[in-house]
Amino acid sequence: MIIGQILKSKERGVMTARPDDSIQEIALRLASRKIGAILILGDTENVVGIISERDIIRLVAEHGAAALTMLAKEGMTRDVVCCTRECTLDEIMETMTKGRFRHIPVVENGALVGIISIGDVVKHHTAEVELEVTAMRGYLATG
Ligand code: AMP
Repeated sequence: MIIGQILKSKERGVMTARPDDSIQEIALRLASRKIGAILILGDTENVVGIISERDIIRLVAEHGAAALTMLAKEGMTRDVVCCTRECTLDEIMETMTKGRFRHIPVVENGALVGIISIGDVVKHHTAEVELEVTAMRGYLATG
């Protein structure tokens, strides 16, 4: 399965923010959309960073309440690993496992077209495995 197929089954629109948005504003958006990460876009709508709930926890642990007034650009991860619609589910699983993160933006010609979370990966991987099991059972039953 490729990422383009997974994106088609997802709700359109990716939650984004700007480098000068505050951490409090970002926390509010994450909470209201019940999501775990937000992508930070630059002037040309390119991905310049990502902030996940883990980054916010780290900032609060390091700076206390002052973390809330800090800016996205002060707490975001800048080297964002992205994928394309052509990447496979297996490749994404490997990238997430090796990189120890749970979100990967999908880009096309430098523009953001979606995001894949660990939840999407688990859902579609489980569906793939179930299909394989059903096919195997059919094969065994028919000898
Ligand atoms: P997560 O597991 O996605 O909540 O993120 C764990 C850490 O990895 C946080 O510091 C994120 O900013 C960072 N992170 C999340 N996704 C990516 C990504 N695609 N590329 C690089 N870093 C990421």
